Amino acid sequence: MMKQSNGDSGDTTDSRAGPEGVPGGDNAWQWLLLGGLLLTLFYVVIPYGLLASSVYVAASVFAAIAIALAVKYRLQLVRPFAWVLIAGALGLAASGHAVWYWLDLHGLEPFPSLADVFYLCVYPLFMVALWKLGHRSGRDAGALSDALIVGVAAAVPGWALLIDPYLNNPDLSAIQLLVSAAYPVADLILLPLILRLIFLHRARITAHLFLLSGMLAYLVADMLYAHGNSAGWYEPGGMTDGLWLVAYALIVAAIWHPSASVEPYCDVSQVEMSGRRLVVLGTASMLAPTVILLTAGVDVDVVRIAAIGSILLFLLVMHRMAGLMRETHRQADELEKLSRTDPLTGAANRRYLEDALDREISRAQRLDSPLTLAFMDLDYFKRFNDTYGHAAGDELLEELVRLWRSVLRDSDLLARIGGEEFVVVLPDTCSDEAQEVVERMRQSTPRKQTCSAGIARFGPGDTAEAFVKRADQAMYAAKHGGRNRVVLI
Ligand code: GH3
Ligand code: MG
Ligand code: MG
Repeated sequence: MMKQSNGDSGDTTDSRAGPEGVPGGDNAWQWLLLGGLLLTLFYVVIPYGLLASSVYVAASVFAAIAIALAVKYRLQLVRPFAWVLIAGALGLAASGHAVWYWLDLHGLEPFPSLADVFYLCVYPLFMVALWKLGHRSGRDAGALSDALIVGVAAAVPGWALLIDPYLNNPDLSAIQLLVSAAYPVADLILLPLILRLIFLHRARITAHLFLLSGMLAYLVADMLYAHGNSAGWYEPGGMTDGLWLVAYALIVAAIWHPSASVEPYCDVSQVEMSGRRLVVLGTASMLAPTVILLTAGVDVDVVRIAAIGSILLFLLVMHRMAGLMRETHRQADELEKLSRTDPLTGAANRRYLEDALDREISRAQRLDSPLTLAFMDLDYFKRFNDTYGHAAGDELLEELVRLWRSVLRDSDLLARIGGEEFVVVLPDTCSDEAQEVVERMRQSTPRKQTCSAGIARFGPGDTAEAFVKRADQAMYAAKHGGRNRVVLI
């Protein structure tokens, strides 16, 4: 039996969740993470050269293999396809590193090179993998909107700091510009995909927390590299390269963590909008206008991008608000319906009846139209329950309401006011017509059961209370008269 490997409240790891039949079991992730971090430290500490670059390439190849092995041996893995893509991405990154270091150590620095082809192919795989990991929640529209809001907001300063310098560099050829800009652009696409999983609360699962931290480390390393490269401070063998290794170590730890087998529970709805989320979205929305403020008059291109970003943000916020409003209206409708209906039969409840009766009385007085009301009660329903069971009694009530409704007009109101007691309000109906209708209802009582009914007509000077009471008295008269009949007062 495998035990839960940590006390994370977010994990619901159970005995099935471990890496079945794999040497190292539940603890493998700890050793892999520790090993990865030590290798990173070793790489950063030793001087840059053949040994350092060999360690780097070996570590990244090992990371890709470790993920592939986990995909193969961990039978309970959630979304294995996403992890296959991540293994592929790390394999491509490792190939890129091998080519890059080989070129660098031979004093060759072609740009772009084959290494860039490998590196750039990593991103689409990461993107699809992250998209797949968040899928199937069904109600993730809010998280996606929020992730796009923060992503677009971050893209504006991202453009100003990482992409704009390349555009203003006259030494770059068109293809060099394209490849240089492709990295930060890909990063800015990855960011909302990572944020979406965070907003879906996926980071509560340790495996996802590791994966998302790894992805963020990868992004930060990318951005440091992009900035260092254009600003001229980047040197191979330092912390920036080390950060990519940290990213790999975290991603490997993610797939080997027992919670990678946990299907995330998704309780996120479109209306979820915590105070913290609002602060995040509000702060993000201020980024683009801030960039305009800081760069106005200095760099027209950045101002243009920031203005486009602001328009996009505005549209996204509107879209989010529309989603919130739609969901709020839907819930309000549902709540309103629940507050006026009887949950078992779907008939109106006593509360609704009281309001509706007041309205009908006012209407009848205003238009001087006839208004009748029937009080109906099933006969010997207790005996029916005792004989066939309470569940059968419930079914009878449901069927009864369906059948009774079928003989009523749309303007009539059927309300369940007690266990097997109903009131029917019949607007624009005189006593004779009411008697006919209620007689039809009595005859359509299902399962060979019977009911007793009392009918009253609304009279001048009547109150709602007195009106209902008269119908109730008529119903009791029907009971005393032998049941299974309709009495008109
Ligand atoms: P009478 O002809 O005098 O009206 O006799 P009765 O047995 O119908 O009347 P009584 O008031 O003695 O019993 C009503 C029964 O209705 C008692 C209770 O078990 C049953 N009942 C009340 N609410 C429900 C319900 O929601 N579901 C079911 N199955 N039974 C209910
Ligand atoms: Mg009864
Ligand atoms: Mg009763």
